[in-house]
Amino acid sequence: MNTEKTLAIIKPDAVRAGKIGPIITMIYESGLAIRAMKMLHLTKWEAEGFYHVHRERTFFNDLTSFMSESPIVVMVIEATDAIARWRALMGPTNPAQAEAGTIRAAFGTTIERNAVHGSDSPESAAQEIPYFFNNLEMYPE
Ligand code: ATP
Ligand code: MG
Repeated sequence: MNTEKTLAIIKPDAVRAGKIGPIITMIYESGLAIRAMKMLHLTKWEAEGFYHVHRERTFFNDLTSFMSESPIVVMVIEATDAIARWRALMGPTNPAQAEAGTIRAAFGTTIERNAVHGSDSPESAAQEIPYFFNNLEMYPE
């Protein structure tokens, strides 16, 4: 059993569309546990810090503007193979390629406005979780 934690974000597009509830339902229905959660409105600077690995990409300025345009919901998800299972539930980056039943197929609109984020490796989860949460904000069960 490989119990691990991952960082999940409900992005500004999905929060504004009223999809916090449906997304949380999909998380629980797929057997993933939420160990921490809060709503935040990132500044541009905070969004740039979070997406620092993408700073050389052509879409970096648009991405960080999008992520700071209105509130997001950040969560820590824990489960066996949480990183891969949360990314499978999200679907691929481009919602046009996402299979029915994934969050991005249901709620994503473009490759940028794709409703949710998930850490892509144990290393990125270990960096991303403490960007938003300290130990006192996470609950073991
Ligand atoms: P995330 O990191 O948000 O979970 P991801 O791992 O599927 O998504 P990344 O390649 O890490 O995708 O890109 C980070 C985010 O940058 C994407 O979720 C999307 O919002 C945006 N993005 C990625 N590729 C493009 C692109 N070609 N044009 C515009 N925005 C993009
Ligand atoms: Mg990514």
